[in-house]
Amino acid sequence: MRTEPAYAKLNLTLDILGKRPDGYHDLRMVMQSIDLADQVTLSPREEPGIGVTADLPYLPRDGGNIAAKAAAAFFAQSGVPPVGLTIAIRKMIPVCAGMAGGSSDGAAVLRVLRDLYAPEMPMEQLEEIGALIGSDVPYCVRGGTALAEGRGEHLTALPPLPPCSLVVCKPACSISTPELFSLVRMKKLRCHPDTAGMLRALEDQDLERIARRIYNVFEDVLPRRYAEVFSIKSELLGMGAMAASMTGSGPTVFGVFRDRESAARAAESLSGQYAAVHLCRPI
Ligand code: ATP
Repeated sequence: MRTEPAYAKLNLTLDILGKRPDGYHDLRMVMQSIDLADQVTLSPREEPGIGVTADLPYLPRDGGNIAAKAAAAFFAQSGVPPVGLTIAIRKMIPVCAGMAGGSSDGAAVLRVLRDLYAPEMPMEQLEEIGALIGSDVPYCVRGGTALAEGRGEHLTALPPLPPCSLVVCKPACSISTPELFSLVRMKKLRCHPDTAGMLRALEDQDLERIARRIYNVFEDVLPRRYAEVFSIKSELLGMGAMAASMTGSGPTVFGVFRDRESAARAAESLSGQYAAVHLCRPI
């Protein structure tokens, strides 16, 4: 039996560069892991195949779970003979939240299977297997701070986000990722994040400059019914956040705070209105 943390991610930046002939969009994103994590436990079993249990009743328990897809892809691609497995998921990362929860569970499964059955497999190969499952999986395999390009699978390691506190708040609404992409009109995107400036600010470990460059282009195309995203942003900024932004395709919003006390006060205040509020740190 082996338990692995599956960390959530935040987008410090999310930029859309264009639409590709294959229907996907070309993205450029600065990603950051945070210490909000699911726990993914793998137990080999006699019975062949992959069984999934999860503490949330509405998650798939069959081959449709991203964790099961990851295990199947690992055995299919690595040449390791398949073993029977039970994967138990304790969910802490909000679902459909723009925090790559499912992708991170899949990545945790890949890391454990590699450690157990193919320790010589290079990380790049594991990330390539991850790319077959989903665009965010290669990043989740690696974690930390990284630039993700292409569909999200081309990764460059970056210097870490300097120590800070993060307040993560998911409103009850959910946003469809395909719907958001369908609303993007490249010529109408008014602003793009200064990704190059973000990379320099990370290099210099300058939290002030990093905070000024946090930006997600999806905020520009959010339909009015997601106004809660902007009210959470304003509340975070009003309570002292250096920056606040939606992560991924939302609707989760995060605020960056220099000191733990103001972050804790903001988290406390938001938890009176929203069920999913977390006080986190980058990892
Ligand atoms: P991303 O940030 O990568 O767009 P997300 O946070 O918006 O992801 P997820 O929570 O990863 O979305 O899950 C989205 C869908 O995947 C849900 O419909 C969910 O039922 C399904 N799913 C399959 N396996 C899992 C899993 N292990 N954890 C969460 N969701 C899963």
